[in-house]
Amino acid sequence: MSAHDTSDFADEARSRAARLLRMAAPEDDRDGLIAYATDTPDPPLMGPDGNRTTGCPRCRRTMWLQREAWVCAGCGEVRERGED
Ligand SMILES: [Zn+2]
Repeated sequence: MSAHDTSDFADEARSRAARLLRMAAPEDDRDGLIAYATDTPDPPLMGPDGNRTTGCPRCRRTMWLQREAWVCAGCGEVRERGED
């Protein structure tokens, strides 16, 4: 009988929430952080530039830098990368 019944997806979601909680200040809203980790898609695979993020101007969640554009993990907003 195996103790590893949880899916990789569940493991990843849990580790992402755990990572956010580790970075959180004691006074941060822990339930909110867990909800954020649960609600948002996983970040894309590491690109040539590494994982770079910025704030989404529309929903204020995290935008991830894809090859030529910022893509929001919360609302799907896409912005030209432009100069940076
Ligand atoms: Zn957004």
